[in-house]
Amino acid sequence: MRVAVFSTKSYDREFLTAANTHHGHELLFFEWRLTAESATLATGSPAVCAFVNDELDAGVLGVLAAGGTRLVALRSAGFNNVDLGSAADLGITVSRVPAYSPHAVAEHTVGLILTLNRRLHRAHARVREGNLALEGLLGFDLQGKTVGVIGTGRIGALVAKVLASFGCDVLASDSVPNRECIERGVRYVSIDELLRASMIVTLHVPLTPETHHLIDAHAIDLMPQGVMLINTSRGGLVDTRAVIAGLKTGRIGYLGLDVYEEEGDLFFRDLSDQVIQDDVFSRLLTFPNVLITGHQGFFTREALGAIAQVTLDSISAFEQGRRSGRELTA
Ligand code: NAD
Repeated sequence: MRVAVFSTKSYDREFLTAANTHHGHELLFFEWRLTAESATLATGSPAVCAFVNDELDAGVLGVLAAGGTRLVALRSAGFNNVDLGSAADLGITVSRVPAYSPHAVAEHTVGLILTLNRRLHRAHARVREGNLALEGLLGFDLQGKTVGVIGTGRIGALVAKVLASFGCDVLASDSVPNRECIERGVRYVSIDELLRASMIVTLHVPLTPETHHLIDAHAIDLMPQGVMLINTSRGGLVDTRAVIAGLKTGRIGYLGLDVYEEEGDLFFRDLSDQVIQDDVFSRLLTFPNVLITGHQGFFTREALGAIAQVTLDSISAFEQGRRSGRELTA
């Protein structure tokens, strides 16, 4: 089947091409993000393969449907960028990769926590300049600290497991408590209780209308002074302006982000010789206690291999008139 693959980088092409030897699809790789402007590139492709910052609103889906697209295969777990109602109305099937390597994102999350706590990002820069002083690098033991995991699905449950193994007291909040977490001693509490008690709060719920700006000024007010906030899920979970206000008062003592609510025009690109126009993002970069990575939680060999395999399998299933079980419903 002819597949228009958007937002591709060299690594996407490498892993999708390797996986395609078992499928034989005709893959048309585009570096462009899928937007209203680029959607006509898919004309004549029954399948479109899209990523996290591709725009799949009603307008774009309408252009895709008019061009003959009947399947949108997301190579991501999150699907907050897709108007599923419009896709259903237009007769477009949408599939995703529900789980590829939750370990990849969980391990990255723990990496952000450890780096921020022990200020490894600052230590690395200092040592390279011959500065081996320790002032300003003081950390704290994770052992015995209370951490709050919001969302204990595949990724959150792994983060809870690792943090419990450090000797942390793990609190969790989820509309569907995870039995394995409970067996490991994780305690489910209300979100307000979690925010009040946790020195580290890490977010692992999907972005939905209900979870949009879950961490806003009110939530930050509940948190203890100097809290560490980590978001490797989706940028829209956090009200970035409220977080900046919290960083300025010291209420937020550490911030680790792998995602940003306006990341669409920034992430996955080299902007090092340009002036960044997003003033909120630029302000975040000025804080010494903020660590940002550019949506790289998923970026391991294992995850990219699994994403490519599963995505092409979903496309093959659709071509053969089978259900893959990874279709999304509105
Ligand atoms: P999952 O579906 O396994 O788990 C999500 C959990 O959130 C579930 O347990 C669910 O019950 C809970 N939940 C949903 N809505 C809730 C609400 N309103 N209140 C409380 N709990 C709620 O998902 P996952 O595989 O663990 O992934 C979590 C998120 O991580 C994804 O939605 C995606 O946005 C993000 N993600 C990021 C990267 C990255 O590279 N940074 C990669 C993959 C996934």
